[in-house]
Amino acid sequence: MPSLNREIVNFGGNVRFRPTHYYEPRTEAEVLDILRTHAHGQIRVAAALHSWSNLLVSDDAVVCLRHFRDITTRVDAAGDTWVTIGAGCRVKHALKALRPLGLTLPAIGLITEQFVAGAIATGTHGSGNHGLGHYVQEVRIAAYDGQTGEPGIFTISSGDELRAARCHLGCLGIILSVTLKARPEYHVGERNARYKQLDDVVARESQQPLQHFFLVPHQWEFVAQHRCIVPPVTGPLYRFDRWAYFAGWFVTMDVGLHLTFKLLAGVIRRPSVTRQFFRRVMPYLLIEEKTFVGRSDRVLTWEHELFRHMEIEMFVPRQHLAAAVDHIRAVLTVCDGSEELDPLARERLQRAGLLEPLLAVRGAFTHHYPICVRRVFCDDTLMSMSSGDGHDWYSFSFITLAQPRDGFRKMADYLARSMTQLFGARPHWGKYCPLDGETLRTLYPRWTEFDAVCRRYDPRGVFQNDFTRAALGRQ
Ligand SMILES: Cc1cc2nc3c(=O)[nH]c(=O)nc-3n(C[C@H](O)[C@H](O)[C@H](O)COP(=O)(O)OP(=O)(O)OC[C@H]3O[C@@H](n4cnc5c(N)ncnc54)[C@H](O)[C@@H]3O)c2cc1C
Repeated sequence: MPSLNREIVNFGGNVRFRPTHYYEPRTEAEVLDILRTHAHGQIRVAAALHSWSNLLVSDDAVVCLRHFRDITTRVDAAGDTWVTIGAGCRVKHALKALRPLGLTLPAIGLITEQFVAGAIATGTHGSGNHGLGHYVQEVRIAAYDGQTGEPGIFTISSGDELRAARCHLGCLGIILSVTLKARPEYHVGERNARYKQLDDVVARESQQPLQHFFLVPHQWEFVAQHRCIVPPVTGPLYRFDRWAYFAGWFVTMDVGLHLTFKLLAGVIRRPSVTRQFFRRVMPYLLIEEKTFVGRSDRVLTWEHELFRHMEIEMFVPRQHLAAAVDHIRAVLTVCDGSEELDPLARERLQRAGLLEPLLAVRGAFTHHYPICVRRVFCDDTLMSMSSGDGHDWYSFSFITLAQPRDGFRKMADYLARSMTQLFGARPHWGKYCPLDGETLRTLYPRWTEFDAVCRRYDPRGVFQNDFTRAALGRQ
């Protein structure tokens, strides 16, 4: 039975709506009944609601698959273990189930709260790896037959259909389960270091392939978390050392630093204090020159979900990394109210018609969060942000803990528009996305193939909403 008039609110609190019908089916037969009932309406799936974009919205039916969380494994002739995960299983529960088998997932993001089908919907990724969806080899979906329009259950396991399902945007149908090859558990060594030059950080990638780094606003230097696969370290003394590091990280970074950001952005609200904090305190908080080793999912994740925030993340092709850093510095400095703008940057923006719009947001927002930069390998997908022709992408995350968010939105809107125009940058599908459909389509050369797959499983467009319709040029 559907619940009526239930309000859906996402993690960031920026997306709120009341669908007419809300379902939590327990069986595939119930899912097919929902498809029958809404065959001429609209259906979207709500997973862990950790997205900030309008992908989530449906006026008609919303379906939550939280009861679909079975996990099964099989070992193939080559000795590889394949895991089939129910769409409503959280990433953290899949990791927990694989642990006793000495296995883990091939990729994870900074948190593991997402449902597996929700994570792959938007191209969820970490650093020094592909997105999780890239590794998916089979997907079971409840959708509509392209010929008859009748609801049914289909298996997708090859070609452009699989490439579409690997970053599906909720447009193919209701994903019921996802199958991928598990990888043997591994340990990661992490070491923090500060750098003045971008080139010095990037030069470490070959030895530290899982690293990510932060551009420190207002100071404009870099803090890197070097990360690489290492053998596990055991022994009671080391175990204590590691425990102390993770506990220390939780208290100082996951909680303490975030409380400080909230204080700076929400209570003190003085740009000069924020600037001084980032110039004199923030870069020196990390323990440097000591390597800590831990299980991959412990080292690669944070308790980033403790504080509700808003985020935009922009992906630029590798060749534009250095120019993007310079551009971000210029934009954030002007948004912070500065009159100074490097003459070369001014000229470049003037030529691109981006100078006037930047001056219009001068003083709109003082950024108060380190900008996380991650390297994402090219995905074999049609629509994920790092899909493409083989080169790596670098993602830049901009986060705010401030309320209200109008100033942040102005800065984010300008960043999205200018980075797209200058560098072909793509916004994360799951994060704040201010670009219009026409612009989004210019960023994804294979969107027509994606749309064709969607039409094959959904001839009447039941799984589309305003956001996806605009992105696929269906308005
Ligand atoms: C604190 C925090 C940290 C984050 N860290 C990262 C990170 O490190 N890397 C990264 O890339 N992203 C990150 N994200 C973004 C997040 O991973 C994505 O937005 C992800 O899509 C959220 O998954 P979800 O389960 O909450 O899905 P939802 O947000 O609930 O849904 C996302 C989309 O998937 C569709 N969908 C979900 N399940 C199904 C299904 N079964 N069938 C059909 N459609 C479905 C929904 O309709 C919707 O369109 C983070 C988000 C937060 C809040």
